[in-house]
Amino acid sequence: MADRLENIRKFQTDVEQCMKCGFCGYFCPIYREERQEKGLARGKDQLIRFALVGEQPLSKGFYQAIDNCLLCRTCVAYCPAKTRIDHAVIAARGDYAAERGLPLAKRAVFRYLLPNRRLFGAALRLASWLQGFLPRGEGSFRHLPQFLSALGAGRTIPDIAPRFLRSILAESCPAAGGPRRRVGFFSGCATDYLFPELGRMIVDVLRNLDCEVVFDRRQGCCGAPVYLSGDFRTARKMAARNIDAFEGCDCVVTGCATCGSGLREYPTYLAETPEEKQRFERFAAKVKDFSALVVDLLAADLGRLAVKPSVRGKTVTWHDPCHLARYQDVRAQPRRILQALEGLRFVEMPDADRCCGLGGSFSITHYEVSRKIADHKVDAIAACGADAVVTACPGCMIQLRDALARRNAAVAVLHIGELFTIRPAAEPLGLR
Ligand code: SF4
Ligand code: SF4
Repeated sequence: MADRLENIRKFQTDVEQCMKCGFCGYFCPIYREERQEKGLARGKDQLIRFALVGEQPLSKGFYQAIDNCLLCRTCVAYCPAKTRIDHAVIAARGDYAAERGLPLAKRAVFRYLLPNRRLFGAALRLASWLQGFLPRGEGSFRHLPQFLSALGAGRTIPDIAPRFLRSILAESCPAAGGPRRRVGFFSGCATDYLFPELGRMIVDVLRNLDCEVVFDRRQGCCGAPVYLSGDFRTARKMAARNIDAFEGCDCVVTGCATCGSGLREYPTYLAETPEEKQRFERFAAKVKDFSALVVDLLAADLGRLAVKPSVRGKTVTWHDPCHLARYQDVRAQPRRILQALEGLRFVEMPDADRCCGLGGSFSITHYEVSRKIADHKVDAIAACGADAVVTACPGCMIQLRDALARRNAAVAVLHIGELFTIRPAAEPLGLR
């Protein structure tokens, strides 16, 4: 008989690390707002341990507790016992989804929309058209299912792009100079459907760093929203397609921190056989964040970074996406870029790596608390006096724009790929 808690058992040693000290309570963004034990890593860990020794089917209350997590890894970073609550929560979501099934809306999106790019694009267009008919204002959509409730809470939602990146970018973009590397560009859904111009800018930077850029259209969603919700089976198929798309590339670069960590975590959650694990590991090792690759390729020559006129003279600050800082350990590289850009003033905000409260679909299903968490980020941005906050995750950008708009704060939200171009290598310094 199949083990109904097979995923949790895979990470059982992680679950058993917790020594109940409660230290995570000082850092967990959700606990800091709600002050409820079940929001805390310790509380979730305890529930998962109970599930391991119990015979009962996993309850709805269990699901609500494990669903109430941003997977920001803040607790993991500070836990003295190195408890991996992220592993435990994701595994528990997998076992719950297998035993009780996912909510209908999530199931429909994950199984039918996300894997089919044409259908997903058409659905987004339809949603964008329908959005035009929705009245705006707090609390006006209480009758909508919880999955959509944030739409009715006056949330600032970006427009769907008139043309998607996959319809404007060639599948192979030649390097400006002799190609040094063959780089696959993984756009992710947000860049493809909402911010295609950003995708174009990133590709231009890479081409000017002598990379041949491959934008294989077989790529789809990274699968992170799917497997982080517990649907490992669907995510496994998505992973296989993405890996096929970038076969033959020296590395796979993305400007989306969530996609980057999502692709890198395939071996942790999706591999079923040792061969599959090896294949996923080989792929994960090739995945690189955009700012990290730029710093690598420029080595000591950061003087080739040229600030764009649109941001010249601005004071900017940096928001560390959880999926970049804590998942990929990329903190120094974007700061090095910002500090190297002449004509830009870089200031640190307090707690730059504090979670913005997005947490993927968490900000849709738990909008109230997500909003409160984002408010702290707005306070931090205001405290440092920046004209613009720069980051590396389209998801964080959406969350920050919403939070800043609610406070009427005149602060731009930019992706680091929008700030600079690359000067030709041989250009004499005097001509810059
Ligand atoms: S998760 Fe870590 S920090 Fe939190 S109670 Fe357990 S041991 Fe302490
Ligand atoms: S991952 Fe983040 S939200 Fe989840 S329990 Fe840890 S600190 Fe709290």
